[in-house]
Amino acid sequence: MATFSGKEDTMEVYDVTIIGGGPAGLYSAFYSGLRAMNVQLIEAQPYLGGKLNLYSEKIVWDVGGMPPMPAGQVIQQLIDQAKTFQPTIHTGEKIDGITKEADGNFQIHTTKDSTYLTKTLLLAMGNGILDPTPTPFFTNNGELLDNVHVSVTDFEAMKHKRVFISGGGNSAIDWANTLAPIAKEVILVYRQEEFKGHEAEVERVLSGPVTCILQADLISKKLTPNGSSIETITIQDKETNRKETLSVDEVIVCHGFNRKNELFEQNDVGLEVFDNYYVKATPQTETAIPGVFALGDAAKYPGKVHLIAGAFHDAVNAVNAAKTYIDPQANAMGTVSTYADKLKPKVATVWKQYATE
Ligand SMILES: Cc1cc2nc3c(=O)[nH]c(=O)nc-3n(C[C@H](O)[C@H](O)[C@H](O)COP(=O)(O)OP(=O)(O)OC[C@H]3O[C@@H](n4cnc5c(N)ncnc54)[C@H](O)[C@@H]3O)c2cc1C
Repeated sequence: MATFSGKEDTMEVYDVTIIGGGPAGLYSAFYSGLRAMNVQLIEAQPYLGGKLNLYSEKIVWDVGGMPPMPAGQVIQQLIDQAKTFQPTIHTGEKIDGITKEADGNFQIHTTKDSTYLTKTLLLAMGNGILDPTPTPFFTNNGELLDNVHVSVTDFEAMKHKRVFISGGGNSAIDWANTLAPIAKEVILVYRQEEFKGHEAEVERVLSGPVTCILQADLISKKLTPNGSSIETITIQDKETNRKETLSVDEVIVCHGFNRKNELFEQNDVGLEVFDNYYVKATPQTETAIPGVFALGDAAKYPGKVHLIAGAFHDAVNAVNAAKTYIDPQANAMGTVSTYADKLKPKVATVWKQYATE
């Protein structure tokens, strides 16, 4: 943890501060340690993993050398790897201001009213902080009721349940098709005339066991006696005005997310923003500001791959660029992991695991 005794000159100065705890940020935390830099990672949400939390039960199958596994497991493996060199990790803390100091360090300010100093900054903030679009399914405070979900993290909880899904895009259709064999019944309700998802998935949902109701408005919900969950939902046909009340066990709301990225407006360092949600970068992750690097989904440059594999590639470039920014004499590329001195003391433990398997 950064220490601040009241005098600015005693505040720890990190070599690298990473904004965002998704795949790009987590892998950068590992790689910064490998390149012998002291690093902190700051994540706005109370949990790590970034967007993978939106599809934690879906199988990720397109990362080189990684066997197919649920995204939730990918998150866990990324966290374990990120912790290899004991980085400082803050969760539930949003960076809301960046300034450059006279000595060249960056000062960052967070919503917990903390201030940190860092020599370099890695912008791994994806497309901002994703908060579900408020809907009538939420409480008045915008919170989720107990049986309302914006993403399914536990398939077991859907077993033999009556699942009501609201929405008509890819994510609603995908959840409907995925849960159809698990749930007792899946009811998919959309207010438009046609679903908007991928053609093959739309066909699958229309021809399968899911009850699809189009052109229907959600007009009211009834809560359980203790007010914690939704018991019934009343919908109304937009053409005939006929009302129908459906009892539900679980509700999945796929009405999209609001992206919050105030950081783009509140920084005093002059980040170049692109298409509202991207930082303009070079393929080596450099931004217009020396010492600030953009990586993962946050970055846009010709040929950028907005996938987990692309985030890893950027992370290596960003960390190497940070290293040579701090120490121009350092090697532009770190040594490969098979020869890395920093990993040697840990290799014996890994071999032991293989010996016992
Ligand atoms: C439904 C879906 C399925 C996908 N499936 C696959 C797949 O199968 N294979 C694949 O390779 N890719 C897939 N992707 C893409 C992949 O998830 C992204 O490319 C990857 O998550 C990008 O990682 P990232 O770390 O750059 O950004 P993110 O994962 O978006 O993480 C960014 C993090 O930064 C945090 N943050 C933002 N602003 C701040 C701030 N001011 N202060 C502190 N923290 C902040 C956010 O809260 C977030 O946790 C999928 C994406 C979606 C949406």
